[in-house]
Amino acid sequence: MAVWTVGAVLSWSTDYFERHGIDTPRIDAEVILMHILNKDRIHIYTEFDKPLQQDELSRLHDAVKRRAEREPVAYITGHREFMGMPFAVTHDVLIPRPDTEILVEKAVARLNKMESPVFLDIGTGSGAIALAVLHFVPSAKAVLVDVSSAALRIAAENAAALGLTERAEFIESDLFAGLDDRVFDAILSNPPYIPDGDIAGLAPEVRDYEPHMALAGGADGLDFYRRIIDETPGHLESDGFMSFEAGIDEAEPIAELLRAKGFEVSTAKDLAGIERVVTGVKVH
Ligand code: SAM
Ligand code: GLN
Repeated sequence: MAVWTVGAVLSWSTDYFERHGIDTPRIDAEVILMHILNKDRIHIYTEFDKPLQQDELSRLHDAVKRRAEREPVAYITGHREFMGMPFAVTHDVLIPRPDTEILVEKAVARLNKMESPVFLDIGTGSGAIALAVLHFVPSAKAVLVDVSSAALRIAAENAAALGLTERAEFIESDLFAGLDDRVFDAILSNPPYIPDGDIAGLAPEVRDYEPHMALAGGADGLDFYRRIIDETPGHLESDGFMSFEAGIDEAEPIAELLRAKGFEVSTAKDLAGIERVVTGVKVH
C-alpha cells in the first residue's frame, strides 16, 4: 500500500491541479497542505517523508477537490494576508487584492499628516482597507460601512483579531443612507466596479465564488462612483479628501466626475501600470 507522505501528497495535489487547469498548481498545493497540517512552509519541507494521518488525508482530499472546482484558496483556508496582516475571509466577502494595497498606502500617507482623522470606508467587505489604514495611522478612527450584514460581521471579527475594535465603528448602510449628517476627514472606497457585461467573462474563481454584490458596478461599472461622488458634499470636511480604487479604464471617467464637483485630482498606477487609485482633494 502506498504511504502518503508530505512529499507524495504535495506532488499528487500539484499534478491534480495542473490537470484541472489551475494557474499556480504548486503554490496552491503548498498553501492548502500548510493549512491542513497547520504548519509553515519550512516544516512542510523538513517533514517531507512524514506520513499524513488518516483525517489529514481526508481533509486534504476535500480541500484539493474544492480548489480543482475553482474555489479560491483563500475561501478554503479561510484567510488571506493584506498589507502583511492576516484577514479572515468567507464567501460573504471579497478576497482582498494586492492591487488594493496601493489605495491603502496613498491614504496612509495623507492621513498621517492630519490630526486625529476620522475616515469612512464604504463597502468595507472584510475590513481590509479600513483596518490596514487604522493599523498604519495610530491616531485615526474609522467608520466601516457595508450593505451586507454578513460582511460587516467578518469585518468586526477581523477588527477584534487585529486589536483595532476601539477605533472602528461598524454601520450597516446603503452608502451614506445610514450615516445621518456625519462628516469625515476622508472617504475611501473600493466599490463594486465590474461592468455588468464583463461579469460572465471573469475567472471562475471570481465569477462563481465571490459575492456578486461585491463586483457588479452597473452597465459601465461606474454606478457606485457616481452615487458616492454625488452624495459626498455634506459628508466630507472642507480640507478632506476622497480616494477610490478604480477598475481598468475607469480612472479617467472617475477623475472627470470628481473635477465636475470641484475636486483637484491625482492618480496612481498599480504594478501592472494600470491607473488604479483616484484621489480628489477639495479646491478652495
Ligand atoms: N473593501 C473591501 C476590499 O477592498 O477588499 C471589499 C470591496 S468589494 C469590491 C465591495 C463591497 O461593497 C462589498 O463588500 C459589498 O457588499 C459592498 N457594497 C455593495 N453595494 C453596497 C452599497 N450599496 N452600500 C454599501 N456597501 C455596498
Ligand atoms: N478587483 C476585483 C477583480 O476584478 C473587482 C473588485 C471590485 O469590483 N471592486 O477581481
